[in-house]
Amino acid sequence: MKKIEHIGIAVKNLDDSNALFASLLGKKHYKTEAVLSEGVKTSFFQVGPNKIELLEATKKDSPIAKFIEKKGEGVHHIAFAVANIYTEIERLKSEGFIVLNDQPKKGADNKLVVFLHPKSTNGVLIELCQEINE
Ligand code: ZN
Repeated sequence: MKKIEHIGIAVKNLDDSNALFASLLGKKHYKTEAVLSEGVKTSFFQVGPNKIELLEATKKDSPIAKFIEKKGEGVHHIAFAVANIYTEIERLKSEGFIVLNDQPKKGADNKLVVFLHPKSTNGVLIELCQEINE
């Protein structure tokens, strides 16, 4: 794994949280993007080499809606950049990690993404992401 690419934070209201994080970080988000298949709206803030991704649910059965229902707003996942997501999936499976989707999916911010089940990673939802043009 190359670096922490971003930290995903589940929020109830993206507009309110964009304003909150803009005053926290001293800069505005640089993009917003909807991922319809996941039922989320996202925004991204650049912080040095890493990013903060804010996620708001756009439908009731979205994973973000369920997360907030159970745990409230807060840190939802940590995303690591990888050079080759396919070889990382195979490597992590062979180490016994539970990969949630067999094939990477197109996520926000021009990435192929896959998630590891938190029960195999000390309760932390882990995202692997690979830049699509890389
Ligand atoms: Zn993410």
